[in-house]
Amino acid sequence: MELKLLIYDLEINYLPGKEMHIADLLSRNYINNEFDKEINIEGVVHSINNTINVSKIAEATKHDLVLVKILEYYNEGWPKDKNKISGDIQHYWSLRNDIVVEKGVLYVKNKIIMPYSLRRLALQQLHEGHNGVNKTVLRAKQLVYWPGLDNEIKQYVLSCKICDRFKNSNTKEPLQHHQVAKLPFEIISSDILTYGGKDYVVVFDHYSKWLEIIKINFKTAQEVIQQLKKIFSTHGYPQTIYSDNQPYSSDVFKQFCVMYNINLLTSSPRYPQSNGTAERAVQTAKQMLRKADFEKKEILDILLEYRCTTLPQIGASPCELVMSRLLRTKFPVNENTLKPKIQVNDENRMLNYQANYKEYYDKRTKSKDEFNANDDVVVNDGRVWLPCKVLSKLDNYPRSYVVKLQNGQIVRRTSYHLRHTKGQHYVENYEDNDDIILGVSSNEEVVSKGSNGEITKTKVGRVVKIPTKLDIYDLSN
Ligand SMILES: [Zn+2]
Repeated sequence: MELKLLIYDLEINYLPGKEMHIADLLSRNYINNEFDKEINIEGVVHSINNTINVSKIAEATKHDLVLVKILEYYNEGWPKDKNKISGDIQHYWSLRNDIVVEKGVLYVKNKIIMPYSLRRLALQQLHEGHNGVNKTVLRAKQLVYWPGLDNEIKQYVLSCKICDRFKNSNTKEPLQHHQVAKLPFEIISSDILTYGGKDYVVVFDHYSKWLEIIKINFKTAQEVIQQLKKIFSTHGYPQTIYSDNQPYSSDVFKQFCVMYNINLLTSSPRYPQSNGTAERAVQTAKQMLRKADFEKKEILDILLEYRCTTLPQIGASPCELVMSRLLRTKFPVNENTLKPKIQVNDENRMLNYQANYKEYYDKRTKSKDEFNANDDVVVNDGRVWLPCKVLSKLDNYPRSYVVKLQNGQIVRRTSYHLRHTKGQHYVENYEDNDDIILGVSSNEEVVSKGSNGEITKTKVGRVVKIPTKLDIYDLSN
């Protein structure tokens, strides 16, 4: 605003309200838009500078000693003898027949050979969806190539502070068995997610793991139906919708399902807790929204990355499973990679995958860590993981540890709420400007007070009281 006004030479005069007809009209008939764009300009400029594109890669290739040599061999022919090539370039010898150059960019099997100077930035962009190591490796292998890529991704992801902070908590909803989906958008789960005071419809396709997160203004059946119809106009109407909560169990929604020949399965004596998958999809969606918020990114960009990322157990990404093609993101890509390929799935593999999902999932929830004094760990506060330090193990209490939080408080936590970390490190008096509420986990008895001794409240506003019998463990008192 200030910048925009600089071009004017302003003169300020007082005018009584009754004489100010135009201003009064404007003030009463203002446009109801939020203009917060100016604040974001810096962020936009920053992200444009940081976006990799083909000309940046071509420029960086010109300055990459290894790639310049490869370019030379590509144009003039490779030496007959591998041993006559210097060490760094020998790696590309076996790939020499697959290397192609287009507009100054080197490709091997349609993947960009990324110049050294852009690799870090590429890693950052390939990990924008904050997927785990496996998924990030698979995503990278769709688009880029360089020697040692897998290992670099592993290091990068394991030390990612955002991933570490927002990792799923150890507590997980039990998964229920569903019928097995044989087609995309045959069976979906849907639920309402409330995050940051806003409501979203979450839709999860059982076959492809395609995820939709759509903001809604009202949690009414009509609005949910409108949003679902938009999705179904692209993907077709599903045969089955799993859902538990309102407004899905309303009469209006039931009528909608009858009208479109959809089998609606909500919780009932026949299908108790039918919707473990929706619960899980909602958790995934919530994590995405948190990460987007934390990094000031758009949820739609994160969703697109998710949809393009290969599912390790199936070997194809949600968009390939649904649309038989990889979608273009802002990351530069060879057009051959984007050509539609009919995704023929081994039905048995898909059946096995869905049937084994529960087993795989349960296994992941069971692994428990052991901790030692002075270990840098993170503690789950019910929302995110925050750094803390292990002081000691409590002898008479199984899996219980005394830990020091960053605000200096000393509390007891069970291993259920602790996790080893590579991304975050304990720093005394570290200032965390999040309004994080500590210790509201349902199966944890000791809850800390605020750092200045003020009363801590739970998410629902309930004042947290420390049970007297456990006061001895709040060692800061
Ligand atoms: Zn990450």
